[in-house]
Amino acid sequence: MKKFNSHRVFKRNNIEPGGKGEYVLYWMQINRRFHYNFALEYAVGWANKLNQPLLILEAFSCDYPWATARTHTFMIQGMKEHCNYALEQKLNYISFVEQEAGQYDYLLKKLSENASVLITDEYPVFIMRKRNERYPKELNLPYYTIDSNGLIPLGLTQKDPYSAYLFRKIMQKNFIDAYTNPPKKNPLVDLRNRDKIQVPNTIFENLPDGNKALYDIEDFVSGLKINQEVKPLEWHGGRTAAHGMLGQFIKNRMLEYGDKRNDPDERKTSNLSPWLHFGKISSYEIVNAVLDYQPLEWDLDKITYNNGSSGGFFNGNSNIDGFLDELITWREVGFHFAYHRSDYDKFESLPNWALETLNEHRNDPRNWNYTYEELENSQTHDEIWNASQRQLKKEGIIHNYLRMIWGKKVIEWTPDPETALQNLIDLNNTYAIDGRDPNSYSGIFWCFGRFDRAWQERPVTGKLRYMSSENTRKKVKLREYLRTYSQ
Ligand SMILES: Cc1cc2nc3c(=O)[nH]c(=O)nc-3n(C[C@H](O)[C@H](O)[C@H](O)COP(=O)(O)OP(=O)(O)OC[C@H]3O[C@@H](n4cnc5c(N)ncnc54)[C@H](O)[C@@H]3O)c2cc1C
Repeated sequence: MKKFNSHRVFKRNNIEPGGKGEYVLYWMQINRRFHYNFALEYAVGWANKLNQPLLILEAFSCDYPWATARTHTFMIQGMKEHCNYALEQKLNYISFVEQEAGQYDYLLKKLSENASVLITDEYPVFIMRKRNERYPKELNLPYYTIDSNGLIPLGLTQKDPYSAYLFRKIMQKNFIDAYTNPPKKNPLVDLRNRDKIQVPNTIFENLPDGNKALYDIEDFVSGLKINQEVKPLEWHGGRTAAHGMLGQFIKNRMLEYGDKRNDPDERKTSNLSPWLHFGKISSYEIVNAVLDYQPLEWDLDKITYNNGSSGGFFNGNSNIDGFLDELITWREVGFHFAYHRSDYDKFESLPNWALETLNEHRNDPRNWNYTYEELENSQTHDEIWNASQRQLKKEGIIHNYLRMIWGKKVIEWTPDPETALQNLIDLNNTYAIDGRDPNSYSGIFWCFGRFDRAWQERPVTGKLRYMSSENTRKKVKLREYLRTYSQ
């Protein structure tokens, strides 16, 4: 791997690769794609070095927090697409959807016994973070995690960035290196040893058919002990759908992104977050595709370091430049923050000024106090909030601008900030198809002051940036939105 990308490689235990096993194991946890994937590229590199075949394991557990029929369906759709691709390409690929807790763990451990080295995805939040802390100690083989999450490698920052402005400076200094050291489009073409791996049958004798989920996804999912109230979406969880969405965005919405992205009625944002979350598409591919639409005379030489300001960096079409700032700066500041902070999901991780002001106003009387169930069922006095929550429940997403109001208001309407935070995390991660992501925590904690500064003081929310539904109504177009989500 080139020097710049060495900042993506993390050796997680002290066991040295001796090449004693029969294959290299690539465990696909979150960046679930065969293309533009640094982790897969690294695994192919090890397989070539040891002259061994590569075994790819893609599995899915059933007992993760906030497990729903919605997430399960989306994920399994992606796995089904992978299965077909792997068959066509004659890959050593195992897909396994767990039916009872423990089966996934058993399979991983068994497959690790005959592997020389294990490569998996670096990911700074949720169960992947926990697994990457636990398994390197439990499994007796060299364990590497590789960061294929974004443009700026996680190993490049020294500490958690406290603002987007600070992270943007780092992004601006490193963008050209990152862009010119991309992941390979199809790393598997370099794989030299194509031997068929004979996984012992005894492993599977103790497991149910791991592909059962793929035959009839709806039927399979409906039989699991997960939250069945949160229904599957119309969006398909595969890579083909991700590319379809990217194509539609570029064709129909991108060149109006700057002016109209905040207007819910316009629906001009990319809608790519669900596929970015499950790693079905890489942010490099998106950057590369949209840069093709910069004005004809634009090239990388037009880029000027701008000391962390959002404008005046790409110096191309302002809509494209604005979109790239969201996709790179705003998306990745959350990954880098969580990477450096194991308390990324804890109230105490807020900046000191935010903790102080929230504590000072802890006992202020609240005008409204809603329970989790009332929030969940859109039973507040606020039409805009209720509509946003309905969109979340029905469509698994909230328009970005309204997502901020949605988060901010809950702080005013719950007895204390810790309850507000927990309610938001639970609502977001249960219903949002892009939930359980570093950006779930960036977005929610931003409402509480993360990456922000102190503003004028008010009751309850103290010095947090204040947002009101009345202003939102004046500022953005949402008449149609309110009609659509009126019940
Ligand atoms: C309370 C709250 C909760 C949020 N929860 C999530 C979540 O669970 N998952 C999630 O991916 N994002 C979350 N966000 C961030 C943001 O709202 C979404 O990323 C964005 O709305 C996704 O829609 P899009 O793909 O059409 O975005 P676009 O506007 O098309 O932007 C392209 C990409 O840039 C990134 N991006 C855009 N805006 C932001 C932002 N404000 N912060 C971080 N990254 C951004 C996303 O990866 C997005 O897909 C949350 C924000 C708030 C305020």
